[in-house]
Amino acid sequence: MKKSSDKNSRQKPPALRGGMGSGLSTVLITGSTSGVGLGIAKEFAKAGYSIIFNGLESNGEAIAKEIGKKYKVNTYFSPANMLIPSEISAMVDEGMSKFGSIDVLINNAGIQYVSQIEDFPSEKWNDIIGVNLTAAFYTSKAVWKAMKEKKKGRIINIASVHGLAASEYKAAYVASKHGLVGLTKVLALEGAPFGITANAICPGYVKTPLVEKQISEQSKAHNISEKDVINKIMLTKHPIKEFVCCESIGALALFLASDTASMITGTAMPIDGGWSAQ
Ligand code: NAD
Repeated sequence: MKKSSDKNSRQKPPALRGGMGSGLSTVLITGSTSGVGLGIAKEFAKAGYSIIFNGLESNGEAIAKEIGKKYKVNTYFSPANMLIPSEISAMVDEGMSKFGSIDVLINNAGIQYVSQIEDFPSEKWNDIIGVNLTAAFYTSKAVWKAMKEKKKGRIINIASVHGLAASEYKAAYVASKHGLVGLTKVLALEGAPFGITANAICPGYVKTPLVEKQISEQSKAHNISEKDVINKIMLTKHPIKEFVCCESIGALALFLASDTASMITGTAMPIDGGWSAQ
């Protein structure tokens, strides 16, 4: 009879912790000077991570400094444009030389455009695929070698419920997010022998500048009030009639970066008030 001290019975889930405690100390979050990305950055700052911020907001540097000061963590801001591969690799190189490693990569930068297919502008299609999907390919490729050598790393892709289901008028966005979920699965398989996990988070509606813009556009397009856009168009998708909050997405990302989540890989996790359950 096997003693109770055999290998499996001795295994305990590692502690839930991030920051220096887990050996993972630096996070790069694309598109982190607004909305969801900024919410995620705050959760990682509370956990003690050094943060590489990125985004197109003109006050990006000030935002990074303010978070650094408030949570007493190291921060760095890169204005790299996710549509330009050379800027992406420069951002990763700068981040690595500044902090020594990039342990957690969060591909969050994203854009949206809403139009029926026959009028959908080709340049909007290209930009959305570029920022929402192709940039994640370049960032992942840029951090991969170092994560592989360290035998540890986390890639977290902020997809969307639109990575799991479609809505009309969002051809490029839905295609990009389904693609991002597919990329996540490949990274999970290729990373498995090297301690690298990759997961996608799939939020429903979050009230950020990206959605505020949709609310005002849809209000004009349908000639209804913004309140009706929220209640009659957006939140009809959520069985729980509330927006998802950025803090919850940040907390989920922080969990996926922790040692406790080391066996979670290749997943696409909805955080959508029940939307994808329907
Ligand atoms: P947001 O507009 O508030 O923020 C987007 C961020 O991406 C900004 O910092 C912006 O500067 C950055 N960005 C855009 N284009 C860029 C480029 N070319 N180079 C570098 N940075 C660029 O939007 P958000 O709602 O916070 O969205 C963040 C992510 O969450 C996106 O990937 C989005 O698809 C996803 N998401 C959002 C919702 C929602 O309801 N808001 C729902 C599901 C998924």
